[in-house]
Amino acid sequence: VFSHVVRAPEDPILGVTVAYNKDPSPLKLNLGVGAYRTEEGKPLVLNVVRKAEQQLVNDRSRVKEYLPIVGLAEFNKLSAKLILGADSPAIRENRVTTVQCLSGTGSLRVGAEFLARHYHQRTIYIPQPTWGNHPKVFTLAGLSVKSYRYYDPATRGLNFQGLLEDLGSAPAGAIVLLHACAHNPTGVDPTLQQWERIRQLMRSKGLLPFFDSAYQGFASGSLDSDAQSVRMFVADGGECFIAQSYAKNLGLYGERVGALSIVCKTADVAGRVESQVKLVIRPMYSNPPIHGASIVAAILRDRDLFNEWTFELKAMADRIISMRQKLFDALRARGTPGDWSHIIKQIGMFTFTGLNPQQVAFMTKDYHIYMTSDGRISMAGLSSKTVPHLADAIHAAVTL
Ligand code: PMP
Repeated sequence: VFSHVVRAPEDPILGVTVAYNKDPSPLKLNLGVGAYRTEEGKPLVLNVVRKAEQQLVNDRSRVKEYLPIVGLAEFNKLSAKLILGADSPAIRENRVTTVQCLSGTGSLRVGAEFLARHYHQRTIYIPQPTWGNHPKVFTLAGLSVKSYRYYDPATRGLNFQGLLEDLGSAPAGAIVLLHACAHNPTGVDPTLQQWERIRQLMRSKGLLPFFDSAYQGFASGSLDSDAQSVRMFVADGGECFIAQSYAKNLGLYGERVGALSIVCKTADVAGRVESQVKLVIRPMYSNPPIHGASIVAAILRDRDLFNEWTFELKAMADRIISMRQKLFDALRARGTPGDWSHIIKQIGMFTFTGLNPQQVAFMTKDYHIYMTSDGRISMAGLSSKTVPHLADAIHAAVTL
């Protein structure tokens, strides 16, 4: 009965790793997937995570009972504080409902499902380009996806005018997806002044902000700086959706730990919204897993562990920033044609190189370097040892 099923294509991002794994070359380099690697090219488990896990293992009173539908209460409270700030009036006024979800993706999906059921405007505007999974998550949740101009290939920067025009002509009430920081795949973020203009425009038109915060602390090394865009929107008292992921900033990728916060106008509304979010979650996966959220709660509640985390987080962010400089210097040293200053200007895990799909295919074939066909490379997958190989490949690709 399934003989008619056609083979689906590999996921454009995760498929890069599938191809990489098949390549026997010792030179091969995977810059496709956004996961942090050490200077030695190895995955990193943070020390602070190991310590928190040890505490959990040593605590014999811990059991493996189900969590409530909304997850671990302490985790939810601390996650809201982390993104909104410890002194956030919205939290003090009990206007925020936070539910533990399956990392960033699950948080986006639960938020989208709630909106499709309970919000009057079913259109969501996403930046062009954006993370490849966004349009699929929102479409399958029942929203209608449109895009707004974001990236300008000519300047390799923000198309601010285009963004303002597109959001300015969006229908009143439309949902707008915003990357809180470290925009994926472009590495281009609005300045704080630009965020303020976006906020004013969106609030004046009643557009609903839905923040995707997958890189808090990973962009600048500071958890507070990377949350400024979100806090600006929450400070004005308006509604806001936020999907948080602990995949990158705590290296908890496979633990699938994240949170959805919905900032409402009153505590009463927040309570009713939460009751409906539970009806979204219950038939989807019943309740979230306990282990990752317990690790996060242990770190966020303890001053020493929290401080240790900020230290390790900064080290990851700094290593990525230093890779940007090294790659830029290596291209300059080779006299590679073009202005590569965007490599050091862009923010976060990725560099949007400007390489076209043919150049990417050439680099994969001749240099065994793997990346998404849009020319996005993960700086977190690069090390001092591999920079020269990448610079050689880029040089060869652009001088073909
Ligand atoms: N949003 C963005 C912008 C991302 O880059 C990612 C991860 N690549 C996610 C959300 C979701 O990640 P996860 O579900 O692993 O938290």
